[in-house]
Amino acid sequence: MKSAIFLDVDGVLNTRTTVERTPDGYHGIDDARVEILAKAMEKYGNTELVLTSDWKEMKPEADDFRYLVSKLEKQGLRLTGKTTDHWNHRGEGILNYLEEHPEIEEFVILDDQKFDFREYPKLWERLLLTNGIERAEFASKTPAVETIVFLENIKES
Ligand SMILES: [Mg+2]
Repeated sequence: MKSAIFLDVDGVLNTRTTVERTPDGYHGIDDARVEILAKAMEKYGNTELVLTSDWKEMKPEADDFRYLVSKLEKQGLRLTGKTTDHWNHRGEGILNYLEEHPEIEEFVILDDQKFDFREYPKLWERLLLTNGIERAEFASKTPAVETIVFLENIKES
């Protein structure tokens, strides 16, 4: 069975108070937060990492994208894919990705914004709203089992 984490970057791996900067001068990525993600994923086991963040719009060779990849690599993480959105419909992008990857049976969404997730109960129940990954909370009052497990992993990391 395969599972996936759908990853936003800003508000998950950093916050507005993050001091670190990217090569292009934007809010950078906190190693401590990537480490929490890596540990939570390791406990979960066999989990793919799919990028949903606007960072996905960058060219792979862009300095900031390479910075993201290297920050993840430092903790042994690798992006396995990315979603495609239209008009910031991030949830729709995830649904399309799931349709193209029927092998993914379980998933959790990490994001600091709600976008269109609430329109799709399947996504809403798997959304962890963050303010930095260490402050993740269930979006739904009835979260899916994998979301409960993953939040526990985060808290333990
Ligand atoms: Mg964000």
